Amino acid sequence: METRPLPLGNADQRNYRLASLAAEVHRTYFYKYPPLPVRWGQQITRKKRRSIRLGSYNHITTEIRIHPLLNAPDVPAFFIQSVIFHEYLHHVLGASHNRRFHKEERKFRYYRESKEWIRRHLWLLLGTKRVRPIVMPPPKALPPQMALF
Ligand SMILES: [Zn+2]
Repeated sequence: METRPLPLGNADQRNYRLASLAAEVHRTYFYKYPPLPVRWGQQITRKKRRSIRLGSYNHITTEIRIHPLLNAPDVPAFFIQSVIFHEYLHHVLGASHNRRFHKEERKFRYYRESKEWIRRHLWLLLGTKRVRPIVMPPPKALPPQMALF
């Protein structure tokens, strides 16, 4: 686990940090598969959010995108890695959040810590003052080519 925060100053450093976090997830859990490209998503400015898509996996390009709001010093590295892990699982298991998916998801070393962190800090990401429940659309509502966190 990378715990040392890197200085956030320019895009290269931020990309490097994401690349190193992704590389660790890959070599720890998914070394049997080729590494996937992992990139920050594009920032869309919106004042109020009711939900946030923390990560996505595109099974056509096999690219993982992580929400740029997670690119902040307040967000622990293990949480970003939990999102990367989740999206890698979609690569391996498919789009459905089925029983097997949830079982595999628990194999991430900081699974519980990550669930707890987002429960406590989601309001920060949503830009609201109160904690709101995590809103995740049911799998059936997702477009078939995209699996979302
Ligand atoms: Zn998902």
